[in-house]
Amino acid sequence: MNLKIYNSLSGEKEIFKPIHENSVGMYVCGPTVYSNVHLGNVRTFMSFDFIYRALVHLGYKVRYVRNITDAGHLTDDGDVDNDRFVKQSRLEKLEPMEIVQKYTVDFHKVLEVFNLLPPTIEPTATGHILEQIELAQKLIDTGFAYESNGSVYFDVLEYNKRGLNYGELSHRNIEELFANTRDLDGQNEKKNAPDFALWKAASPAHIMRWNSPWGEGFPGWHLECTAMSTKYLGEKFDIHGGGMDLKFPHHECEVAQGKACNGTEPVNYWMHANMLTMNGQRMSKSTGNYILPMELVSGSNDFFEKPFHPSVVRFNFMQAHYRSVLDISNEAMVASEKGFQRLMEAMKVLSNGTFPNSDVSSFDLTTWKEKSYAALTDDFNSPILIAHLFEAVNFIFKLKDGKETITESDLSELKTLMNDFVFDVLGLQNIEENNNAKLDQTLQVLIDLRNQARKSKNFDLSDQIRDRLLAEGIELKDGREGTSYSIS
Ligand code: AMP
Ligand code: ZN
Repeated sequence: MNLKIYNSLSGEKEIFKPIHENSVGMYVCGPTVYSNVHLGNVRTFMSFDFIYRALVHLGYKVRYVRNITDAGHLTDDGDVDNDRFVKQSRLEKLEPMEIVQKYTVDFHKVLEVFNLLPPTIEPTATGHILEQIELAQKLIDTGFAYESNGSVYFDVLEYNKRGLNYGELSHRNIEELFANTRDLDGQNEKKNAPDFALWKAASPAHIMRWNSPWGEGFPGWHLECTAMSTKYLGEKFDIHGGGMDLKFPHHECEVAQGKACNGTEPVNYWMHANMLTMNGQRMSKSTGNYILPMELVSGSNDFFEKPFHPSVVRFNFMQAHYRSVLDISNEAMVASEKGFQRLMEAMKVLSNGTFPNSDVSSFDLTTWKEKSYAALTDDFNSPILIAHLFEAVNFIFKLKDGKETITESDLSELKTLMNDFVFDVLGLQNIEENNNAKLDQTLQVLIDLRNQARKSKNFDLSDQIRDRLLAEGIELKDGREGTSYSIS
């Protein structure tokens, strides 16, 4: 089966051909960890989590690199006073690296809640300063970059003079870029306005600084991704992903850096995930039009009527194709919750039920399987895949009601496929199972507390714990192996 991927570089769906058979190298731009990720960020990371899961399911061995930007991503390209980390550290009265730690932890926690798999390598920008300095030096040596006042800039005009094409990814032409570039920073330092910083000299007040051949400074944002992707995936690799808004200038700069450094197109397939909107506007920290992921899950927000389970949120996101804009709303979430519950109910029926066994069935498993894989391999079309899953769901309920039949072998294959698609590929989780795990953990805590109470001869408390649980229908049983419980 051919996997088709929409490539931003060509603007077309292309048949995917990995550089090394059965292996995929994939780089996805990670978060800038100076504040909490918002739900929009989560959507992009989830889109690539789904793509990663799908690639693994299709049999590829994937090296999945997603970086952490913990230095050098300026609020305005190149303005030293606008270092996000330095600004936030002043605001919160913390060291910049405390800011980095705090929001990296938050990022990991949030992604775990939404059942995103960790990447196989998660490098940080500050851990790769040497590699970035080496690249900047190489670009100076080959005439693609120049030093100016302790900063290093990429020479966009020179790049184009050599027959290369700055703008090939975002499909912009150089004249337009010259006309539209605001030259806020380094006016006097840069040769031309579209030139971008590879390295910035640090002003005395700038705390995040490293030694370099050009004096103390810090790396430019675009260079870190080239340094880390080259290091872990090579000069040319299969897939590079990120949100649509990163296409220009960030990814355009990465293409230019890669081509200038190594003389080859760095990435075969550029993939861009579309935005999450709320009230029809792109979700963004700077405009205030955003919701934090945990606010949606806990219900502590003014926008949604009720809390939503992370798997319901995930299901809602998966109902849109990764290249489509998705507007989140209360209505859509409520509808997703209904759909999700029906899907989970069907999964339960499928795993526990016994069904009429015969080969007269209106459900053609072979065709259904083909259709489902066709959707998955058609540029990872999750909404069409979900539509096919619901055909199976309807059939499963008919089986349950005795209105349909299925053969033993088809049933076993249907179970495997549904489990693969729902849990492994879409990354959904069964809420009930989750809750059961939580209940078990909670009861273990109570059993521990009761044992402690008994040890310290506080029998009043230990009896209270036992009796109150019993009143709720949970019976504690003391045995040789310790205390167990049963729920009536
Ligand atoms: P940042 O930490 O700002 O670099 O953003 C992390 C990722 O989230 C990038 O890939 C962005 O493209 C993506 N992103 C930012 N805003 C949104 C949004 N409203 N919807 C989807 N993705 C977004
Ligand atoms: Zn990047």
